[in-house]
Amino acid sequence: MALIKGANTKPELILRSGLHRAGLRFRVHQAQLPGRPDIVLRRFSAIVFVHGCFWHRHRGCSNAVLPKSRREFWQEKLAANVTRDAAQIRALRTMGWRVLIVWECALNRRVVVAQTVTKAVRWIRGTSGYAEIPSVPRITSPKPV
Ligand SMILES: [Zn+2]
Repeated sequence: MALIKGANTKPELILRSGLHRAGLRFRVHQAQLPGRPDIVLRRFSAIVFVHGCFWHRHRGCSNAVLPKSRREFWQEKLAANVTRDAAQIRALRTMGWRVLIVWECALNRRVVVAQTVTKAVRWIRGTSGYAEIPSVPRITSPKPV
């Protein structure tokens, strides 16, 4: 489990270089937008977040399993992250942005990276307002406008 959360974490760099190779140009960590999005593609009205599965609670993902100790502390802390994420996505959607969430587990293993980049590029060039990669069925999902 990665305990360090911050800018320029490795999975994000992997995705960025993949998008760049696909010919896409973007800005990173735009502080003036809700959630300080990792990747902003203005031309496509598209925003991409690379979300750590633990911190952002990727449902059903083995990387999101809670530590055995201090469960209540973690549940409370992480629930706040999920609430904040949903609010930021709603705000961005209201502003007219399309939002893609790429979960870190889709960038962790070499064998899935190419597939993930392909999916992300396809989504960016498309018209869908919201999507997640991988598109695992979720029990509760943020409900963007
Ligand atoms: Zn995951």
